[in-house]
Amino acid sequence: MAHYIPENLPTRILHYIDGEFVESVSGETFDVLDPVSNENYATAASGQSEDIDLAVAAAKRAFDSGPWPTMLPRARARILHRIADAVEAQDARLAELETFDTGLPITQALGQAQRAAENFRFFADLIVAQSDDLYKVPGRQVNYVNRKPKGVAGLITPWNTPFMLESWKLAPALASGCTVVLKPAEFTPLSASLWATIFEEAGLPKGVFNLVNGLGESAGDALVKHPDVPLISFTGESSTGQTIFANCAVNLKGMSMELGGKSPAVVFADADLDGAIDSTLFGVFSLNGERCTAGSRILVERPIYEEFLERYAARAKNIVVGDPHDPKTEVGALVHPEHYDKVMSYVEIGKTEGRLLAGGGRPDNLPDGNYVSPTVFADVAPDARIFQEEIFGPVVAITPFDTDEEALELANGIRYGLAAYIWTTDLTRAHNFAQSVDAGMVWLNSHNVRDLRTPFGGVKASGLGHEGGYRSIDFYTDQQAVHITIGEVHTARFGANAPD
Ligand code: NAD
Repeated sequence: MAHYIPENLPTRILHYIDGEFVESVSGETFDVLDPVSNENYATAASGQSEDIDLAVAAAKRAFDSGPWPTMLPRARARILHRIADAVEAQDARLAELETFDTGLPITQALGQAQRAAENFRFFADLIVAQSDDLYKVPGRQVNYVNRKPKGVAGLITPWNTPFMLESWKLAPALASGCTVVLKPAEFTPLSASLWATIFEEAGLPKGVFNLVNGLGESAGDALVKHPDVPLISFTGESSTGQTIFANCAVNLKGMSMELGGKSPAVVFADADLDGAIDSTLFGVFSLNGERCTAGSRILVERPIYEEFLERYAARAKNIVVGDPHDPKTEVGALVHPEHYDKVMSYVEIGKTEGRLLAGGGRPDNLPDGNYVSPTVFADVAPDARIFQEEIFGPVVAITPFDTDEEALELANGIRYGLAAYIWTTDLTRAHNFAQSVDAGMVWLNSHNVRDLRTPFGGVKASGLGHEGGYRSIDFYTDQQAVHITIGEVHTARFGANAPD
């Protein structure tokens, strides 16, 4: 198969510390693979604790000396808008590089690049619009809240949509006045370096943005444990989240954790079946199934179960799998051979746990690269591993139910609680189900369309804390309450009740 390689691809990917692209102090590197050929197309500098020390020191100097944390919000916002403009202006190039590095279909990578620009616009506007909190008790008190950026934010991100997920942390951290050290995922380090140039050209002061590539157990671990990093925003697997949680506890760091998922899509018999089939297909097979909010368990009410299976499997077989750079491709190559092996091992497990209706292996016409056919298993029992465990690939488990109570029990009978999708025309049932389902985010008769003002996050093993809108700004800032007495001065003294 023709092997597409974007022009001007770097063969060496570096750190960016204090305004300079640099190698690791140790000179260590790791290999970066192209998921279509699994050839090593570049080596990346592999950060160790000494590289993290340099990056944190640069970010701390930039924070302590200003001007970024003390700049007027509208001055910061102007720079953030310039960043958004630059991302928009080069969205096609960004998508091309992201597709090359991740194996995501090019049309979907383009959407992710545009979302990254929107994240910067949104937080630029939000930081200006954010009214200062002011509380008055007439004639007695005025209370106000000082919002202070927390300092050097440590940002640790996964490989599934790297550039967009980095923007989801960078935009609010920078809008809040923090300086940052970003540790991107080691499978996909290519696009993160582009931030350095974009930020520099937009006028972000030197040292505010720092990037250290490397492995989780070395660069990631050193960032989490660094005493001058008071907060960590992490997106990744729940098991990694547990390790980071324990390490953050030592220094009582602020933490935000967006973790794994195994989200249910519940299709009731009264649903708009065409819409439900379209969206539940897209919900698990878009982004190659490497999507934290994938609706990877579909629960279908018994009266429509067989019809749903027939139509769903027929559609799954027609999904176009192939070269991620081809605009017709709907499912590309999985990110890395290690991940491919993991997904394939679940496909084999699934063959012993469910009825295979579509897929079940590599497409015959794609002998190389990390390609997996969209795979559909029916009649999957709730204790099956493919029902309980996050696969993070193009594999779906479908299970029938008879009553609303059973649907809820199936939906909630799992350690994760990121998203849920509910398909029914009965709005009372939809809202009741939303109220009871263990999920940080619920979509009723829709898929993954989200206003940036709403909270994003999961419950149970899917996350801790919510980002999105003001909640992101809350996370990256300390909120200091200042209380002033006006009118008659109140001094607290023993024997007299001080007002609350
Ligand atoms: P991962 O947990 O393996 O790695 C994520 C990041 O953490 C990487 O940068 C990695 O190098 C780093 N890391 C690993 N071990 C570390 C350690 N001990 N200390 C510090 N950093 C460490 O996850 P992944 O495989 O890159 O991403 C896939 C996972 O991410 C899936 O579980 C998916 O559901 C989840 N995800 C969640 C969301 C969400 O918003 N909830 C979004 C996207 C992906």
